[in-house]
Amino acid sequence: ADTFRGRTVAVFGLGRTGVSAALSLVAGGATVWAWDDNRETREAAQQKGVPLKNLKKVDWSEVDDFVLSPGVPHHLPKPHWSATAAQAAGVPIICDIEILAREVAAKPDRARPKIIAITGTNGKSTTTSLIGHILKTCGKDAQIGGNIGRGVLDLDRMHSGMFYVIELSSYQLERTHSLRANSAVFLNLSPDHLDRHGSLEAYGEAKQAIFANQDTADTVVIGVDDEYGKALCTELKVRNGRRIIPISARRAVGHGVSVLGGKLFCNMSKKSIEVCDLRKATALEGQHNWQNAAAAYAAVSAFGLDPKEIGEAILSFPGLAHRMETVGTLRNVRFVNDSKATNADAARQALASYNNIFWIAGGVAKEGGIDPLKDLFGNVRAAYLIGEAAEDFGVSLNTAKCPNQNKKTLEMALLCATKDALESGLKDAIVLLSPACASFDQFKNFEIRGDAFRSQAQKLMGIDVTGS
Ligand code: ADP
Repeated sequence: ADTFRGRTVAVFGLGRTGVSAALSLVAGGATVWAWDDNRETREAAQQKGVPLKNLKKVDWSEVDDFVLSPGVPHHLPKPHWSATAAQAAGVPIICDIEILAREVAAKPDRARPKIIAITGTNGKSTTTSLIGHILKTCGKDAQIGGNIGRGVLDLDRMHSGMFYVIELSSYQLERTHSLRANSAVFLNLSPDHLDRHGSLEAYGEAKQAIFANQDTADTVVIGVDDEYGKALCTELKVRNGRRIIPISARRAVGHGVSVLGGKLFCNMSKKSIEVCDLRKATALEGQHNWQNAAAAYAAVSAFGLDPKEIGEAILSFPGLAHRMETVGTLRNVRFVNDSKATNADAARQALASYNNIFWIAGGVAKEGGIDPLKDLFGNVRAAYLIGEAAEDFGVSLNTAKCPNQNKKTLEMALLCATKDALESGLKDAIVLLSPACASFDQFKNFEIRGDAFRSQAQKLMGIDVTGS
């Protein structure tokens, strides 16, 4: 990152993106002072060539910029000590996305990659990878990164004609000021992460930074199925003349992209185009995924691709692991891994998408447990509860739904659920792992939990994945 040459940049948080930011700044001629509270993390970074300096002991007035890992808070109620020190000295707080954004801005027009940025409360990863899949299927060079996959400074070197498809969390957006997205997607907003941002307005404000440096040639995609998106759409229209594309999975929207009866329609020109029938997209089940598909279509619509080809690419999307991922079927039973559903809100989508659910849930519950899902318990035939939350979830569900009382482990729960689902004879029985809980009482993270479910289900289906 040449744009930081000669500057002194402090870096705190030496995980994946912190290390890549530090190394890219060093390579670009900046003086880097990097630190982490954890000694092992620090030493591992040093091994990779990151220069360390104890930021507790430095004079912050000598620091020009401060790269703070997105996971570390900088405002109330609990700002990290490094953020407090930086702010007291008036040092701007940035992140790796800002470093990339300045690098791109410094290039001449003809050498710039196109940037597609995606944010929202839910569906970011699905939409980001779907956009990447569409572009690649249509023969473009697309790199996916940011909050998903690789850090943006680890992506392949930029050239013109290339696309950077970047997932952005609100935490990253708060520390990004120079990004110009050729296409920016704001999917939805629901009251998540309010502990950190304080209010829905502040949270929305952070996310709106995604539109900050756009000009009239750029595209704005906004999900208008929630009140916030609806208002935002009107507000941006008034503010300037960008190409604004409203999208909806529920109703027809003028000059936008909508899903009606499962079909994806583009109404951006006078003649409405039917892009594809999303009911045939096996990896995009459920109305929430229709919102993601509409957003992806709108996001790539300005780049001269053929709508039919985009439609075919949407249908061939393989989907992401751990998000309503069908891992196989055994006679009348389908196994679905939705391990990413770490809270009730995320589990809602899966519970709403199927009828005869044999539901495996539990782990470490968030406040409120599964009570907010009561309206969907009708879709649950039986529940198999695991982990710390088992007892409380049993109370919410009432015991009639929990036939062979709480199973301690995922493996036991899966066995019982499969047996009951097979014996039920129901044509479309779904054995669903959608825990509505964090995993850390039993698994290191949701990926490992989902992998365990998948491999055990595959064993039950007679496909021994270990090959033994
Ligand atoms: P994110 O990256 O924003 O966390 P993902 O694409 O990883 O989102 O999806 C996570 C979970 O959120 C999914 O398993 C699904 O239950 C839910 N979800 C996905 N897309 C949407 C959407 N558009 N609206 C509401 N919920 C969604």
